[in-house]
Amino acid sequence: MCSVGGPPDFDFEMGQVEKYKCKDCGDEFKGIGKNPSCPKCASEKVEPLK
Ligand SMILES: [Zn+2]
Repeated sequence: MCSVGGPPDFDFEMGQVEKYKCKDCGDEFKGIGKNPSCPKCASEKVEPLK
């Protein structure tokens, strides 16, 4: 069966969700991907939290 137009098959178990902290406003958030940006101030100066 080849269905076209279906939703993409997201694999959430494969996506690494990590906690980041914004260096500009200090907000802590969960980001996915290599270069997440702060949801508060849109800064890209974030560092991963462990
Ligand atoms: Zn920020």
